[in-house]
Amino acid sequence: MKNLIKSILTAILALSASALFSSCGTAPAPTPKVTPKTVPVKKTTSYSSTSTQALAKKVLAHPKITLLRKQVSGRVDGASSYHNIASVARGYSAKRSSYSNAPGGYTKLRRKMLETMLYMADVKGYRYRVTSIAGGSHSKTSRHYAGIAFDVDMINGVKVGAGKPYYKAFMNACRAKGATEVLGPGAKGHSRHIHMAWPR
Ligand SMILES: [Zn+2]
Repeated sequence: MKNLIKSILTAILALSASALFSSCGTAPAPTPKVTPKTVPVKKTTSYSSTSTQALAKKVLAHPKITLLRKQVSGRVDGASSYHNIASVARGYSAKRSSYSNAPGGYTKLRRKMLETMLYMADVKGYRYRVTSIAGGSHSKTSRHYAGIAFDVDMINGVKVGAGKPYYKAFMNACRAKGATEVLGPGAKGHSRHIHMAWPR
């Protein structure tokens, strides 16, 4: 009889122990009924059905695109290329800088520019760093302030500069994607970065 009681007690203890363990967060959560996404990832150049917010999210998460988190001058003002893209990825506008020629305020970012940023990485295969989009101080009427220009200072690990590889081909590819103001080494103020802008 004693043995029987003992074995019953042991069984109860074992049960409560297993109940304890299964309630410790290690138990598998009930599988939510989510239909797996079967849409294949397109390797095409068309982002036409994608919103600017979704495009910005892709740019933000892209392993080949580095977004500078401060101005080239070192200034941290929430208007860096990183901040611009992160804001648009969250559904907000991109902040402009408020020093020197920069007018302050906010702007949207143009779809064509965001598409091209992705195209340069996805299709052309470039790994590159963006130093400025809507922020920073540029010439007074710069297209940066309208969210239709971006600057790049490093491509495939090589700093932009006269005689360096990659940047000329990068500039040409942006021209082919509709950029109408493309400047780099040889142009005043562009010895160490390239500038791509789309029509207003
Ligand atoms: Zn520029």
